[in-house]
Amino acid sequence: MSYVENYEVVVIGAGHAGIEAGLASARLGCKTAVFAINLDSVGNCPCNPSIGGTAKGHLVCEIDALGGEMGRTTDECFLQSRMLNLGKGPAVHSLRAQIDRNRYKETMKRKLERQENLFLKQAEIVDILRGNDEWILTSRNNIRYKAKAVVMATGTFLEGVVHIGETSYNSGPDGVFPATLLGESLKRLGVKIKRFKTGTPARVLKSSINFENLEPQYGDEKIVPFSKDTKNIGENKIVCYISWTNDKTKEVILNNLHRSPMYSGKIEGVGPRYCPSIEDKIVRFPDKKRHQMFIEPCGLGTDEMYLQGMSTSLPEDVQIQMYRTIPGLENVKIMRPAYAIEYDIGDPEQMYSTLEYKEFPGLFGAGQFNGSSGYEEAAAQGLVAGINAALKIKKEEPLILDRGTSYIGTLIDDLVIKGANDPYRMMTSRSEYRLVLRQDNADERLTPIGRKIGLIGDKRWEEFSEVQRLKEEEIKRVNTVVIAPSKELNDVLVSRETSPIESGVKLVDLLKRPQISYKDLKEFDTTRPEIPSEILEKVQVEIKYEGYINRQNRQISEMRRLEKKILPKDLDFSEIKGLRLEAIEKLSKLKPNNIGQASRISGVSPADISVLIIWLSTKFNKNEVNSDENFI
Ligand SMILES: Cc1cc2nc3c(=O)[nH]c(=O)nc-3n(C[C@H](O)[C@H](O)[C@H](O)COP(=O)(O)OP(=O)(O)OC[C@H]3O[C@@H](n4cnc5c(N)ncnc54)[C@H](O)[C@@H]3O)c2cc1C
Repeated sequence: MSYVENYEVVVIGAGHAGIEAGLASARLGCKTAVFAINLDSVGNCPCNPSIGGTAKGHLVCEIDALGGEMGRTTDECFLQSRMLNLGKGPAVHSLRAQIDRNRYKETMKRKLERQENLFLKQAEIVDILRGNDEWILTSRNNIRYKAKAVVMATGTFLEGVVHIGETSYNSGPDGVFPATLLGESLKRLGVKIKRFKTGTPARVLKSSINFENLEPQYGDEKIVPFSKDTKNIGENKIVCYISWTNDKTKEVILNNLHRSPMYSGKIEGVGPRYCPSIEDKIVRFPDKKRHQMFIEPCGLGTDEMYLQGMSTSLPEDVQIQMYRTIPGLENVKIMRPAYAIEYDIGDPEQMYSTLEYKEFPGLFGAGQFNGSSGYEEAAAQGLVAGINAALKIKKEEPLILDRGTSYIGTLIDDLVIKGANDPYRMMTSRSEYRLVLRQDNADERLTPIGRKIGLIGDKRWEEFSEVQRLKEEEIKRVNTVVIAPSKELNDVLVSRETSPIESGVKLVDLLKRPQISYKDLKEFDTTRPEIPSEILEKVQVEIKYEGYINRQNRQISEMRRLEKKILPKDLDFSEIKGLRLEAIEKLSKLKPNNIGQASRISGVSPADISVLIIWLSTKFNKNEVNSDENFI
């Protein structure tokens, strides 16, 4: 009889998804176990040594606003920080931080080790079974773990196969062995599995790089932390460098394309459309003369340098040739070769927006296992899956974030409704409400939800409430303060190519002018209170984009009106007259929760939606349609 341990929640995986899931579940009071195949790879960044970037920065701010951990740890371990897209509108301003990879792992591991209610363990789970109202997991050492809820966060390990040119071998990332048995067990359970692929560039030795030929890239002077809990963020500690591929690089790649497992057909898994390998870029953009690449330090305690933008699965001998064609890398030495990895995922269309499996109550999915790609996407899903596993145990209302609340909500809705045909990477263009889903207001959108769930503590809540109070006061003030005309003020207005004023004008109306900022009006705005610049920036964005923001908020209300039109859980769509065959197929497969979700399923037309709405209103008394609980 094997030894058995009992938990309320078990998280399989201590990557970016598993960490957030485990911490959330334990912090919500559930007895939680988190498993990893190797504890030295807890919180590992098998790809770029950075957190954030366009749209990914939004996800990290949202994770922080909800009470997650990634933002705090990134601030503790950052090496260089930059706010991207400052030349564009505030909707796409995105924070990106280079991190110390090893320190990030140690810090996250320590947080798991010290978290009450959480037990971190090195063990490979090889089997999962559904028991009576519980899940039974077995490790390779034949230890059994019982749990009410399980979060699958196995990343790129399930049936992991690494490819480097003609060489292929079973492996997880960075030489950690793969999970070979759990995938089969999931298939036996009835979980639909897909095969995906991703790739990473080489890590090279710092002393083998000639930095003279490279363009340095420095961090921002004014560093904005990811987390509202971070008070003293500190200084930038490293510099990154920019270089470019050239015709020689292209020649080496094209001469050896037949040896690339991607082009020899050896790799079956589907790769990330928006994170292409260098050979993909060369093939897909033949007219492009050169491709930009970045050289990024991996940490203060190592001389490994990461070659951003140069991921490949070409053979190592070709990699050496290829990298040495790039200015600055003429004598480069590869410490870790680039590689591609194929792995199994669970088809995300099998889940509700709570990330719980429709056919397997208590089984949740998160991260790369759900078909996404990226640390931030993984952490966001891990947080929601961990929260919902705990709320299920506590028999409380599940957390569903709709597309109007956050990029997290958009990410999950896209995965469970539209599915994943290739590794899903978040981009600002994926949100139809991006002007409302900005980094600067992530706390306003999500901290009240994090507080209600129980992940936002008193101190954080007081600070948040104070910021909201100061912001509301400032909005009131700018709508009442009148700025008198003066020569000095009109000189500033004219210098900014906007018209001078002849009589008193409300401060808000001056701020509405696209050319004018708070900074410009400082000396004329004599009653301005001493409040943090972050609050002034929030107010300025809301004033300048008021019209657009109001329109998007109206669109969100309309979306929510349709989200409230609940569809019966066991609805047989083939019985509804007027629905097209394709719509019946898609609706029966995805079983959307409501009209809003149904309207986003590809292959379901607006005409089908009208048929559904009419059916609902005839089937159920109009008033009942919107709110009856019986359907859940
Ligand atoms: C080679 C490579 C290249 C990548 N390139 C990119 C990129 O270009 N852009 C991008 O955005 N993202 C990229 N990524 C993806 C990024 O690394 C992942 O998105 C992120 O790490 C996913 O986090 P996760 O928590 O879902 O999984 P992971 O970080 O992979 O963590 C999985 C965890 O599950 C554990 N585990 C797995 N199976 C078992 C088991 N049976 N029992 C116990 N523990 C188990 C592992 O030990 C590990 O702790 C790349 C990843 C790799 C490997």
